Amino acid sequence: MSTIAAISTGQAAGGIGIVRISGENALFVADRIFKSVSGIELNKLSGYRATFGKVYFDNKPIDEAVALVFRAPKSYTGEDTVEISCHGGLLVTKQVLRAALQNGAVPAEPGEFTKRAFLNGKMDLTQAESVMNIISAKSEQAKAAALNTLDGALFKKISEISLSLKRLAAQMAAWIDYPDEEIEDLTDENITNVLKSAKNELNILLSRFDAGQVIIEGVETAIIGRPNVGKSTLMNMMAGYEKSIVTSVAGTTRDIVEETVTLGNIVLRLADTAGLHETDDTVERIGVDRTKLKTGRASLILAVFDSSKELNEEDEEIFKLCEGKNAIAVINKTDLKTKINAEKINDLYKNVVYISAKEQNGMTELEKAIEKTLGTENFDTTAAVLMNERQYTCCQTAFNSLDEALDALNSGMTRDAINVNIDVAVENLDILTGEKATESVVNEIFSQFCVGK
Ligand code: GDP
Repeated sequence: MSTIAAISTGQAAGGIGIVRISGENALFVADRIFKSVSGIELNKLSGYRATFGKVYFDNKPIDEAVALVFRAPKSYTGEDTVEISCHGGLLVTKQVLRAALQNGAVPAEPGEFTKRAFLNGKMDLTQAESVMNIISAKSEQAKAAALNTLDGALFKKISEISLSLKRLAAQMAAWIDYPDEEIEDLTDENITNVLKSAKNELNILLSRFDAGQVIIEGVETAIIGRPNVGKSTLMNMMAGYEKSIVTSVAGTTRDIVEETVTLGNIVLRLADTAGLHETDDTVERIGVDRTKLKTGRASLILAVFDSSKELNEEDEEIFKLCEGKNAIAVINKTDLKTKINAEKINDLYKNVVYISAKEQNGMTELEKAIEKTLGTENFDTTAAVLMNERQYTCCQTAFNSLDEALDALNSGMTRDAINVNIDVAVENLDILTGEKATESVVNEIFSQFCVGK
């Protein structure tokens, strides 16, 4: 396999920048561009050794640096690796990378270091995917869940389920294939128990998925309400609440630019504040985050009402927009004299929160209501969690196949027929962990990574 190189640190000025070189010839490529002060060559160093020296490009010194040597298989990728830590800065790191590329390395594809770690058996697919989630984590809980997956929690859980099914299938197959041997046939009850228990475990994973996604990915949120009810004020208040932030985040791994607000442990992905200006369009006038609502992408709606005013036709529009959605009614301006018909709102919304955005009252209640609506209260980040749609689909397919296996058993089908369904379940669980994922699936996963990881 070729020797690859990339800048592994962020593309911005910083104290230190790291260029990573990995592959069969990593040490020799590094020796061509790096000369240690002590005179020792990197290919003579054992693993986990570092040495100080200079990096050269076209025979000219370009920076002082520390080279850290990892020997296969004890490195991130499982290959020989050298990490050159030079001064952080766009120009310096680019020059070091160019030097490596002119001396035998090829540019790493996005995620190629992690892909090699996977291909070399350093991690399974769920662990590799969690690396990406760790990089893009925007909240403590998101990071905790990703770290837990990197630690192997999901892999372990899926492998356990898969193993129990493999054992069952093997025992059933042995009974069919060797009728003369005295292999005890499993009773229907034995088979049912194993299938039900596996199904139950998968169901726990599936049912935690939505809440997990909220924690990991944040939640698309639309703040709607007629003009002047206090939508902007609410947004600003959330932004200033505790350690929350309003940022234009240029996603390092996904190229998304969006406004996010961290409320407690949940990242709300808000619209750009489009729609807050006056126009003739009724929908736009009530400040809808139109794109999200129209495309049905908003998973959470904060419908804001002004408690100091009576409800009007525009509020009726809001009621309609919230129908069948995860919506929380936020009754604002509670510091003023109440005129609103709150009863009507209480009838229509399961969750109603009273706040004064101006006086910054009611945030804790709002946070609690959001957690309740999204099912993230008491979310256990130490338990196994499905991290993405790919894993969810594999898990769901496996679950369905076990259902079919149980149906087959109950309708008196042969052991062979039942085994076909179990095989499909096992195969999907193995695809989930990467034991059986096809090359195109693997390539697709790693193409979403950033270069250098
Ligand atoms: P938007 O059009 O829905 O975005 O409303 P704004 O956030 O721009 O607020 C409209 C007006 O209501 C502004 O003058 C705010 O200062 C005021 N306002 C917002 N929230 C409150 C509140 O809780 N109490 C009071 N008294 N005024 C508020």
